[in-house]
Amino acid sequence: MPNGYDVVIAGAGPAGAQCARDLTERGYEVLVLETEPEKTFPAQSNKSTGGTFPSMMGSFGIPDDVVMNYTDSVVLESPSESFQFLQPGAVLEFADFKRYLVRDGRERGVTFHFDARVSEPILEDGDITGVRYDGNEEAYADIIVDATGPAAPLAKSLGVSDLERDKQAVGIEWEFEDVDLNHPDYTDLTDTMMLRLDHDLAPGGYSWIFHTGADTAKVGLCFIQNEKYSSNADRILIDDALTRWLEDDPRFTNADRIDNSQHRGSAHIQPPGRLSTDGFMAIGDTVPSIDPLWGQGIDKCMRSGRAAAVTADRCFTGGIDTSADEMTIYDTLWHRNVAPKASMRLLMAHLLYYAPTERYNRFIRDLRRLSDDTLSAANGGNPLALAKLFHPGDISLLRKFAAEHRDLISQLLPSLSSLLSE
Ligand SMILES: Cc1cc2nc3c(=O)[nH]c(=O)nc-3n(C[C@H](O)[C@H](O)[C@H](O)COP(=O)(O)OP(=O)(O)OC[C@H]3O[C@@H](n4cnc5c(N)ncnc54)[C@H](O)[C@@H]3O)c2cc1C
Repeated sequence: MPNGYDVVIAGAGPAGAQCARDLTERGYEVLVLETEPEKTFPAQSNKSTGGTFPSMMGSFGIPDDVVMNYTDSVVLESPSESFQFLQPGAVLEFADFKRYLVRDGRERGVTFHFDARVSEPILEDGDITGVRYDGNEEAYADIIVDATGPAAPLAKSLGVSDLERDKQAVGIEWEFEDVDLNHPDYTDLTDTMMLRLDHDLAPGGYSWIFHTGADTAKVGLCFIQNEKYSSNADRILIDDALTRWLEDDPRFTNADRIDNSQHRGSAHIQPPGRLSTDGFMAIGDTVPSIDPLWGQGIDKCMRSGRAAAVTADRCFTGGIDTSADEMTIYDTLWHRNVAPKASMRLLMAHLLYYAPTERYNRFIRDLRRLSDDTLSAANGGNPLALAKLFHPGDISLLRKFAAEHRDLISQLLPSLSSLLSE
């Protein structure tokens, strides 16, 4: 077979590049096809704030030189309250991070083709055997992986991914200098990652300031552009929402945008559907791997790449079996290691971003009064711990939420009831 590899991966983001790194470690021939030209990579796909945690850095061997700033804590802010908790983290220079993954992958033996836009699967008897890229170029492999993010050309064509437009959260940020990180009216944001819940700024989402060293910071916001989450009759565009925050918040009075430092992109906040089929897996943001509650995508996408590599290894061991049945190992690993309790987290996210801004002040006060153990149990979706964040006054809010989200709740009900009975 011409251009034959063990695995062909479309997309050199964190998910695809990590999958390739793991596969070559196991001795497989891997080709990664990336749409952007290498000279400017990543430009369009330099989309992330890059806030991450030591577990990601350690698990995937990420070096210090792609870190802009090590942070000590996370701050949650509402219009009049804030809550700070100890949580060591790292804000990555996302472009350096992506280039590192490519460099390291190459050293391990991965073949990368840049300027190679994957357009469609090549099918034989209905099963995928390769991909078409750059018009009529072809590459073949026993297993094909779609890691192109929300573009998902292969997954869509194979009916694996069902990313829905109205479940798409969009995000934008800029890097700034001369940010007042220790303004007297706010919590000191030096060496922190701050997330702000405030519908006036980010209707149906949140905004953030991540300290990147000295007086510089990444400042952005994201939300689901869906009227269920926004009381604004006129839906605000994300760029205008950011401009408005920058104009109104005194921490940005003297702040200057750093040239060429805009990052923007999207991810889907929805239940996962099928993740694989014969000879094929969809990883990273091609399926809803990102944590719906706090937007942690890098670690999740890297884990999904690892789960796909483990699955491929299994399919190649003792003869080649890439049947849909065998590929479901990936689905199992995804639900166990990438997005455990996905349904509960999705429901929590929808509820959090549905609550009115006034409710956020009380929510933050409640977080301050709960113990670390209860907080981490609540964040993990434990129903008893979560109950401590609700009050009798929330009943009408919960009723309204249930009425407006009937479709979501009925979709999640089977997995939620098995979760609650655990
Ligand atoms: C504004 C914003 C801020 C974020 N901040 C954080 C954060 O602070 N922390 C965090 O953990 N997560 C964050 N995320 C999420 C995180 O960045 C993503 O979840 C993660 O980058 C997804 O990785 P991926 O490899 O699946 O996809 P991507 O990073 O999108 O990579 C996909 C790759 O595929 C390439 N590609 C696309 N189409 C094709 C094609 N047809 N053929 C070939 N190649 C193709 C792209 O060029 C790209 O290189 C943020 C996301 C956004 C949008």
